[in-house]
Amino acid sequence: MKLFHSPDHARHAPRFFLQRGTVRPNFEIPRRAEVLLEAAREAGLEAIVPPPATVASLAAVHTHPYLEFLCDGHRAWSEQPEPGPEIVANIHPSAEMLAQGGRPGAGIVARAGWFTADTACPIGAGTWEAAIASAGCALAAVEEVAAGRHAYALCRPPGHHAYAARAGGHCYINNAALAAEHLRRQGAARVAMLDIDSHHGNGSQGIFWERGDVFFASVHGDPDFYYPWYVGRAQERGAGAGEGANLNMPLARGSGDAAWLAAIDAGLDAIRAFRPDALVVSLGFDASETEPLGFLAVTAEGFARAGERIGALGMPAALVQEGGYNTETIGMLLARFLGAMG
Ligand SMILES: [Zn+2]
Repeated sequence: MKLFHSPDHARHAPRFFLQRGTVRPNFEIPRRAEVLLEAAREAGLEAIVPPPATVASLAAVHTHPYLEFLCDGHRAWSEQPEPGPEIVANIHPSAEMLAQGGRPGAGIVARAGWFTADTACPIGAGTWEAAIASAGCALAAVEEVAAGRHAYALCRPPGHHAYAARAGGHCYINNAALAAEHLRRQGAARVAMLDIDSHHGNGSQGIFWERGDVFFASVHGDPDFYYPWYVGRAQERGAGAGEGANLNMPLARGSGDAAWLAAIDAGLDAIRAFRPDALVVSLGFDASETEPLGFLAVTAEGFARAGERIGALGMPAALVQEGGYNTETIGMLLARFLGAMG
């Protein structure tokens, strides 16, 4: 299996993280990608550095005004008096403002609030370069999958919380959605996405909400008690042509291997019934029992069994790295997953 990674991920080293009213060090750190790369190499994967994604390729799932904000926003931010080192929004348009015609205007403060969902996606001087390098890994994995082979895209920053025109939750470019859309454009009639990060893949859901040709299944912590808080419930099934092509499987706090694997099995059953030509896996390790902000309590053996089940689907899969923040364990969890996937 080929492994796509880029050293440019390290140009994004966010500092800001707001937790329960306290600013703490951000934990979506370059070290994450370093340990995952080491583990994947040790597992025997062939490491390749692909080119960064182009704006034209990103526009398959993101809007141009949003991409311009990601690319140029930091420069405008830095031209303000006494700017902080990173874009962090201090206002977002409310539902009332939007209902009454609210729009962003040209100012960077307004654009920051318009194009971000929360304070967990700080944008620094190198965020754009890292994000397009990360997206390039997902696009390279698409080439492999289109040729009938599994591939691992070591994407950092991660992507599944990013909407077509909104960053959030450590995510800027939705790498998994980008992979799914490019698989469609390369000839796959139907594509399935399975998201096993412990957080609901709200951005992926949003991008394909009205699409019947991309099936999205997500196994995650119950949003009544866990990020992204507002969506991720079983009642969200898609709309229009996408009605029935969205499957959310929220799990209670402390759900361990049995409940997690049962939900993955249900997701894989639904994917089989959808009869896709290719699979994209949003592969997060934050369901692990070793995670500092853990919600689920999945063991290393659980991750191996998940890899085994996904491999048994018998379909080429693009594994797209999402979350997982315990740098002491995520390398081992990746190795267990890959080893069992076969
Ligand atoms: Zn996550």
